[in-house]
Amino acid sequence: MRTALSIAGSDPTGGAGLQADLRVFQAHGVHGSGVVTALTVQDTRRVHQVIPVLPSIVLDQLRVLLDDFSPDAVKIGMLGSDDVKRSVEVGLDALPPNIPIVIDPILNASDGTPLLERQAWKGLKGLFERCTLATPNLAEAELLTDMKLESRADCERAAEVLLFDFGCGAVLIKGGHRIGKPDDLLALKDSGSARFEWLAGHWIDSGRVHGTGCALASAVTAQLARGQPLDKAVNHARQWLIAAIDDAQTVGAGASLLVTRNFVP
Ligand code: PLP
Repeated sequence: MRTALSIAGSDPTGGAGLQADLRVFQAHGVHGSGVVTALTVQDTRRVHQVIPVLPSIVLDQLRVLLDDFSPDAVKIGMLGSDDVKRSVEVGLDALPPNIPIVIDPILNASDGTPLLERQAWKGLKGLFERCTLATPNLAEAELLTDMKLESRADCERAAEVLLFDFGCGAVLIKGGHRIGKPDDLLALKDSGSARFEWLAGHWIDSGRVHGTGCALASAVTAQLARGQPLDKAVNHARQWLIAAIDDAQTVGAGASLLVTRNFVP
């Protein structure tokens, strides 16, 4: 049985965070394990409170788990605090070097609530260096690189910074709709320089849907855990996410939630 590990925050709505990641892993035929980094108090309208887990407990969760078995891929989501981020870095030292890691660099919720304290942002480099793929949205790519992204060329420059200054293996910048078509940019390292692939998207008029970023990153992670190469993992995850957004359902008074049906290639 293939397994994937999500290192993420708890979202009581089940629409994002660890609860959603485990469902996404299951939809892609992978057993999900999870290390909690933070509790949140939230409903489908907004995040009310963020409570980081004690850093030593995050480290203990990782140490004990990784001493028992090694996942086939790892996803890093919400980290909450700088100290928790450091615990994750130390805890991941026990992971064999060939295991793919996907980082979704969550900085703020869509209602603006900070999900990672500001002093941790620059230090994300240390984690990025170990990651196979980073999946920032446009706003996160802007905040991390301190660049304004208004064109495709700007996105490609930001992706280069994330590849070569932050040091991750590949970058997927999501949410291109703000600068025209809703395409995503996949940037890969190719003998010392960046190779760009613009992945065509189409606009889905589904209102506000919660947890789409989490779901895309965890779907890619599950696909990598199944042994798919990165470009195929990204394509499968995007194809699956479009259906999950199309099917999104309203369960509360705020954003609707994804419906995570089983992935069929
Ligand atoms: N809560 C947790 C635990 C999350 O991981 C995320 C996702 O990124 C959010 C809340 C925010 O979700 P949204 O971007 O839909 O507001």
